[in-house]
Amino acid sequence: MERQYDLAIIGGGINGCGIARDAAGRGLSVYLCEQNDLASGTSSAATKLIHGGLRYLEYYEFRLVREALMEREILWRIAPHIIWPLRFVLPYHAGLRPRWMLRLGLFLYDHLGGRKLLPPTRTLDLTADPVGAPLKRGEFKLGFEYSDCWVEDARLVALNARDAADRGARIVTRARAVSAERRADGWTLTTEAKRDGAQETVAARILVNAAGPWVGDVLKTVGRRHAAASVRMVQGSHIVVSRIYDHDRCYIFQNADNRIIFAIPYERDFTLIGTTDRDYSGDPAAVEASPEEIAYLCQAASEYFASPLAPADVVWSYSGVRPLYDDGASKAQAATRDYVLELDAAGGAPLLSIFGGKITTYRRLAQHALDKLDAYLPEAARRKRGWTATAPLPGGNFPAQGFEALLADLRGGYPWLSQEQARRLARAYGTQARVLLGEAKAPADLGRDFGAGLTEAETLYLMRREWAEEAADVVWRRSKLGLRMNRDEIAALDAFMTARRAEPAAALS
Ligand SMILES: Cc1cc2nc3c(=O)[nH]c(=O)nc-3n(C[C@H](O)[C@H](O)[C@H](O)COP(=O)(O)OP(=O)(O)OC[C@H]3O[C@@H](n4cnc5c(N)ncnc54)[C@H](O)[C@@H]3O)c2cc1C
Repeated sequence: MERQYDLAIIGGGINGCGIARDAAGRGLSVYLCEQNDLASGTSSAATKLIHGGLRYLEYYEFRLVREALMEREILWRIAPHIIWPLRFVLPYHAGLRPRWMLRLGLFLYDHLGGRKLLPPTRTLDLTADPVGAPLKRGEFKLGFEYSDCWVEDARLVALNARDAADRGARIVTRARAVSAERRADGWTLTTEAKRDGAQETVAARILVNAAGPWVGDVLKTVGRRHAAASVRMVQGSHIVVSRIYDHDRCYIFQNADNRIIFAIPYERDFTLIGTTDRDYSGDPAAVEASPEEIAYLCQAASEYFASPLAPADVVWSYSGVRPLYDDGASKAQAATRDYVLELDAAGGAPLLSIFGGKITTYRRLAQHALDKLDAYLPEAARRKRGWTATAPLPGGNFPAQGFEALLADLRGGYPWLSQEQARRLARAYGTQARVLLGEAKAPADLGRDFGAGLTEAETLYLMRREWAEEAADVVWRRSKLGLRMNRDEIAALDAFMTARRAEPAAALS
């Protein structure tokens, strides 16, 4: 066994990686293990909104909504390449929520917390505004438009991990925590490598269980059969269809079952529609969108759009399991989206388990997690509380509203990049795009193009800097190029990555 870490974290989703980053930046020594790829659990299956959660107001979740609203501009400022503002159009639907209720909800949404750059709510005449055009003719006359933000969810996870590692954390992917022994002064954690079953043992003073939907399984792994809190697994699925409309605004539709769904411009040529909400009891790793969910989403969208949608229009779907804190609510959609942190220090060294949470509130959750562990942290680490609110994530060191300037600068430096490729690289990597492109003077200098503009240089950058090991890591999590690449192209990418992985580490640099 090597050194003793301050913190060992199980789980490389947004919460584990967010805690790793915060802790490493406070000077703590951090170890994180993830059983698969980073963000391979729930954190790549979200609707991808940094939002207050308008509908949570109906459940009086004011604490959560306020914290989430305040996070929108904070996160936008620290990662303006992967987070950006969106405008949402809520068509008024006679017979569903009354107008006064929508107005009140949006008034609160505008004023509950922290809105400085994002524009406020406005009322729309859907018979005159272009956003009314894709909707069923004559049915929707009035609408409301408000602000929230978009996030590339899986990239947010990878960038938190990258920053944590740059600050000294050790991040190990494809290593599952298989046992943990508690002593009076610390933990001994054993992990097993996915590829060859090799075991590794590390020692840490504090153990953090950030295993998302697997939080209960990990509690068993560490010898605790019962926690006071428990997780309620709620499945949510999304469908992707060819772009339905031309403008850049999103829709939030109310359904007759009192749920809401979003329709969002996605990856330039597509529209993303979701989500569903239903209790789930299977293996979280095996979750997939069911035919009923796909039919439900098509039908819900068809209530609003002039051109109806059918399951045959779906080009891709994905599904995830929300690891919600079980507050005993009857319906899945009503279960709280707030988080609960459970500290157990009775049996010796501390164990902190995370229940629930949103991508939107991950940074605050990480801060609160370290607050909970306050008594076990050195004074210097406590003094650095809150540092993550202003420190940019990798590639995010440019002004929140400066994306177009960043893009122009990139195009100036690399005029041979197509407009589309430059935009994609600037969005994915921000100022780090220049590191990826390096001294390249022509497309050929980036090596082979695997398809959809994904080059050897980009792939190697992702292997070297972002723990990508297999094609799926690159085409479905570090990017969504899987929507544009065919099976043969993805297989060729996988073969390339396998060959490169087998070479000595120096071959990647
Ligand atoms: C359909 C849907 C839509 C959503 N939309 C939004 C949204 O728009 N905005 C928003 O803010 N939030 C949204 N959320 C919520 C958000 O996605 C989750 O709250 C968040 O991703 C949970 O992150 P996590 O780190 O707790 O869990 P995960 O991302 O699941 O991470 C846990 C990780 O632990 C790993 N792990 C488990 N067991 C072990 C082990 N023994 N050893 C090592 N590793 C292990 C898993 O492989 C996994 O990667 C949505 C969720 C869903 C399902």
